[in-house]
Amino acid sequence: MKTHIYPLSTEYLNLYNIIREFASNRERELLKLDRASHEEVALGIRRILRESSSVRLLSLPIPEDYGGSGYFTLGSTIALEALAFHDAGLATTIGAIWLGLLPLVIANMLGRGDIGERWLRSFSEADALGEPQVWAFAITEPTAGSDYERLEPGASQPEFLTYARREGDYWVISGRKIFISNGPIADYVTVFALTDKLRGVESMACFVVPSRAEGFKVVSIIDKMGHRTSLTGELAFENIRISEEHVVCPPGLGWDFVQLTLAYSRAPVGGIALGIAKRAYFEALNYAMSRVQGGKRIAEHQIVREKLANMYIMIAAAESLIYNIVSRLESEFPPPLEDSSAAKVYASDVAVYASLEAMQIMGGYGYTRDLIVEKLVRDAKLTQIYEGTNEINKLTISDKIISRA
Ligand SMILES: Cc1cc2nc3c(=O)[nH]c(=O)nc-3n(C[C@H](O)[C@H](O)[C@H](O)COP(=O)(O)OP(=O)(O)OC[C@H]3O[C@@H](n4cnc5c(N)ncnc54)[C@H](O)[C@@H]3O)c2cc1C
Repeated sequence: MKTHIYPLSTEYLNLYNIIREFASNRERELLKLDRASHEEVALGIRRILRESSSVRLLSLPIPEDYGGSGYFTLGSTIALEALAFHDAGLATTIGAIWLGLLPLVIANMLGRGDIGERWLRSFSEADALGEPQVWAFAITEPTAGSDYERLEPGASQPEFLTYARREGDYWVISGRKIFISNGPIADYVTVFALTDKLRGVESMACFVVPSRAEGFKVVSIIDKMGHRTSLTGELAFENIRISEEHVVCPPGLGWDFVQLTLAYSRAPVGGIALGIAKRAYFEALNYAMSRVQGGKRIAEHQIVREKLANMYIMIAAAESLIYNIVSRLESEFPPPLEDSSAAKVYASDVAVYASLEAMQIMGGYGYTRDLIVEKLVRDAKLTQIYEGTNEINKLTISDKIISRA
């Protein structure tokens, strides 16, 4: 079956097929982990990540200069789509590793080759040795969720909890982050923190915080509806001392780095939604072709045909939007945040629509836990919430539309 309508090159289609094969071979195990304890998930996911080193999957978006494959937004989106077709939680785990590295990739793009040498090279070396590092990206705080994604015009400073202060040659980080994908299993967390309460977001900086540092605590692992093979945690930083080498961007540039990171990551997260939507469509089509009711296959009933056609149209539109935007993200600077948001919003809405329609086409069987479509519904919903809720993404889009008008 043709996997894409968008004209991807043979190179990218091959990449997609290699990653589909990797994830497909592990789907049965991932489905078991979907119902397993957090401890079993931690062990199982760590093992799958180690196995991914055989195809150097995690080093895909690391620049070639530092030992990676040099794919950027287009290649990583294709990978996330392929992974999510089999398990969205695995896609989120790997996407969160890339998200944690993204501020370092951006710093490197902006001329900080020392960051590439230190962190990106050691990442790809560890991957080559079959002991990949797990990274996480931490902006969200218990008191600042959407406020960390977009500043409400005219509102007072959001209430941030994570601060960094200078002590001699060291930085001392203290505070709290919540909903951090990979937080409970991370080796390194990329943390955004204020350095001056009065200057607020203008004083924000970004740091690499190793989880082995004294004062790093996993407060809890959050029990979620979907993406259950991706562990999400609340983290506390209790006076963690780190050296200057851990600074990704200095005070004053943190907020710009958050916006750049979101611009580069939102459309690729749309790729996760697209993978879920395509799987839902594929499952619904197969079911409709074999289930007989009213004396014929249900795919021949007009009302079911309309559902399949709607899914097809919306998936084709989401795919076209995503691959257009992620291709542009490879060359445009500054990256168009509003268009990246548009791709994420549309694809996530399509994932929710397609998974629910697939469930409807599969009737009572679709509602059981024996078929994957029930998991697809659970997984699809998150894509409307993380990487900024769709409402916040729409505000970001309208900010741009109105400022241009
Ligand atoms: C499973 C999961 C994984 C995640 N992974 C990460 C991660 O790896 N790293 C990370 O930093 N964060 C992560 N997040 C956090 C995620 O990005 C936030 O949950 C999201 O930004 C929303 O923040 P919140 O949950 O605090 O909701 P809130 O900001 O409290 O929003 C609640 C509701 O109010 C609406 N709302 C809020 N502000 C406005 C406004 N100004 N105007 C209109 N409506 C508004 C929202 O749209 C939403 O409907 C993750 C979240 C989840 C659930």
